[in-house]
Amino acid sequence: MKHTEPERDFKDPVCGMRVSRLTAVAEAEHERRLYYFCARECRDAFLADPAKYLPRHRQHGVRAQPDER
Ligand SMILES: [Zn+2]
Repeated sequence: MKHTEPERDFKDPVCGMRVSRLTAVAEAEHERRLYYFCARECRDAFLADPAKYLPRHRQHGVRAQPDER
């Protein structure tokens, strides 16, 4: 019954937890993308050093896929 909806499911880039728009407590915009976080601590950590939590190389046509657990 679980349907994957990319629009509603996000991955907290800091801790890797899955969050949705409803469960996210914090959000931040970085390079025109919106990121959702499970806690404000996660957002603060992300904003302090976004590059640390994002894939380093982003190329056109290549999907940057953070390793999924
Ligand atoms: Zn988190």
